[in-house]
Amino acid sequence: MPETIQSVFDNQKNVAGECRPQKPSYPFLAWENQEELGRLEDILNHLRQSKTGRSLIADAEKHQTVIRLESNMRAYGSYDEVTNNLKVNANSDLNRQIGTMAHELRHSQQFQKGILMDAYLDSPKCYIQNQSVIEADASATATAVCYELALAGNDKPLEALREKDAHIVNPFQNQAVKNGKIDESAYQAAFKGWFTDYSTRDCYDILYIKMVRQRFKNCTREEENKKFERDVPVNDVVQKVCSCNGKPYMSEQETQAFFSTQDACSVSFERFNNIYGNCCMKFNFDWNKPQEEVMKEKLGLYCRPHSGYMPAKIVPQPLPIPKTADRQASAAEKIAAVKKQKTTQIAKKTQLSAMLKYKAAREK
Ligand SMILES: [Zn+2]
Repeated sequence: MPETIQSVFDNQKNVAGECRPQKPSYPFLAWENQEELGRLEDILNHLRQSKTGRSLIADAEKHQTVIRLESNMRAYGSYDEVTNNLKVNANSDLNRQIGTMAHELRHSQQFQKGILMDAYLDSPKCYIQNQSVIEADASATATAVCYELALAGNDKPLEALREKDAHIVNPFQNQAVKNGKIDESAYQAAFKGWFTDYSTRDCYDILYIKMVRQRFKNCTREEENKKFERDVPVNDVVQKVCSCNGKPYMSEQETQAFFSTQDACSVSFERFNNIYGNCCMKFNFDWNKPQEEVMKEKLGLYCRPHSGYMPAKIVPQPLPIPKTADRQASAAEKIAAVKKQKTTQIAKKTQLSAMLKYKAAREK
């Protein structure tokens, strides 16, 4: 049993020893004190008000993902697929924690689908694109959960998410409002919105370089010989993880079109140089050729300026979310229309049968 999971059970024993009979609603919660347990339960209970939230929790439970609060972290949350540990920043406010938990739970769900990611073994372009897929998808899913909560009458988690991620939330909301439902187009709009934030993309490029360094320290000779070779096509990852209502929200053609653009194959200037340095010996780069040319030819990568010089993220004006009363009125309208149609059909049938009867009587 890994140490982390053991500590969860130890925690439960401690709490049970203090005569607290109630069991946590999620069996793999880890907590230090009653206040933390209360907050974790609060976040989970909010998520359970949404259909997507319930399915995320159910899958995490199947996967035995350990969930805890963490006070010493800079990020809003994290999920480590190696230890299967999910952390939410203890210092965020509740509404923000709800969106974060949904995002991190989606990561736990993604890795249950068997995606392969290794910064050291994968080709740099594959890894960078696949990393962006799992992040954009987790953000789209967190938006879906918060949007469902807003439809159910609590818009605070959605507004908390919008403060930081309006470029993801607004495109999602606009599609959902236009279509009157949360469908593939809403997820896809949010997913694509993620890529318009170059500052976040730069951060993930930096993370990639860090991961390579970390993996290098503990790699085997065999792994060293195979470094940066593995091809894990972005299309495979998208088809595995990017789904809503049980089906992919991006077709293979849409994925191909989106990820073959120069922008989707670009990394920030500094990381471009790092990757060149990491790969030059391995792939026998020609020193006489310009760096840009070699990187495009050998790795399919382009260089983009630092995020400070890139366009600002695209944030469309959000369409208003229909209020519960409006939605009830529009549902009532639809029901009335269907009823009217049925009544007309019955009336027509009655007319027809009366005519037939009349005709039959005359023919007698
Ligand atoms: Zn993430």
